[in-house]
Amino acid sequence: MKSSMKMGVVALIGVCVVFYQYHLSNGVRFDQLADFNSPDPASAYGAANIPGSEMYDYNGLRRVSEEMIRAAVRNVQNSNGLSPELGNLLVQELMGQFNKLEGVRPEKPCPLPSKKTSTLDPLYIITPTYRRPEQIPELTRMAHTLMLVENVHWLVIEDANVPTEQVTKLLNRTGIKFQHLIAPMPDKYKNKKGAKPRGVSNRNRGLKWIRANATSGVFYFADDDNTYDIDLFNEIRQTQNVSMFPVGLCTKFGISSPVVKNGKFSGFYDGWIAGRKFPVDMAGFAVSVKFLLQRPNATMPYRAGFEEDGFLKSLAPFNPREIQLLADNCTRVLAWHTQTKRNEPSAPLDMKLYGDTNLVHLKQQIV
Ligand code: UDP
Ligand code: MN
Repeated sequence: MKSSMKMGVVALIGVCVVFYQYHLSNGVRFDQLADFNSPDPASAYGAANIPGSEMYDYNGLRRVSEEMIRAAVRNVQNSNGLSPELGNLLVQELMGQFNKLEGVRPEKPCPLPSKKTSTLDPLYIITPTYRRPEQIPELTRMAHTLMLVENVHWLVIEDANVPTEQVTKLLNRTGIKFQHLIAPMPDKYKNKKGAKPRGVSNRNRGLKWIRANATSGVFYFADDDNTYDIDLFNEIRQTQNVSMFPVGLCTKFGISSPVVKNGKFSGFYDGWIAGRKFPVDMAGFAVSVKFLLQRPNATMPYRAGFEEDGFLKSLAPFNPREIQLLADNCTRVLAWHTQTKRNEPSAPLDMKLYGDTNLVHLKQQIV
């Protein structure tokens, strides 16, 4: 084989590897994220340069087309002098390999939101948040999860006296139905030494909004720093009264979950029981709106460490044996109690040096 031909074959193998990786990595639908990032969805991820890049299959997965393979082989032929016979052979071989791949589908694809008006009952996501360097990145991650969920109504409630402009701007860009509310922590708790009841004023504000505005559906307390599998939202929609499910990265046991034996609830597994009737994490339960509306006194207490227990007890009459077990009888982790490293506020900008530069704009976007 001539050395130029060898180079051609090596280059083609390289192209194949890149295509293969590309094919595998496109199991998610990008159209919403592209809307979020750019007025031109194609250019948002460089798709404009790929021939046939508008090709999606019925699942919204991007496919490698014959046209793309032929274009790649042609490029190598032009630059390295590959013979037309060898070129055709390679096209056929590559098509054969990719057709085999077409049979490979994710085990259980997650349903994605349709652009049509949803017939599903709303899912109210109550998210406490507060101004700090990590606030916008946390809410950005969370927004990207919720953008994949149908008929979601996001109640973003800030522990602040005025809503943060950057938060409002972010929410407006997501296309998610949302409410941006404020609920500062009362001073008597804020000035207290030791553990504070974090996010309680926010969550109670969320409950107040639901009582005033919602009639059906389900609500869920979702802190801004946790990680949520999109399947979680399909699960909690099924909540009749109160549902529960495991939360990963929680307490010294690494998990907090109802214990299920012979398909039935038989207790709680949590690294910190502390005499609680409901030793569960905030991210480990969901409640139906109707169930809440029938309990006008339900509220979350300002008691650090006992917020979940206090709230679930305030839903009386309600007992642990009435818990609806989700996530395949509590065998799947769909919510993670992740925690972000705390960052110090940034140093002030030297306006003498940088007052007429881009840094002024950047500084307005960080804490
Ligand atoms: N939070 C708040 N005000 C505060 C501290 C926290 O609104 O002063 C919110 C925070 O954004 C999060 C929730 O309350 O959504 C729980 O706080 P954090 O994640 O710090 O608690 P942890 O997960 O460590 O128990
Ligand atoms: Mn947290």
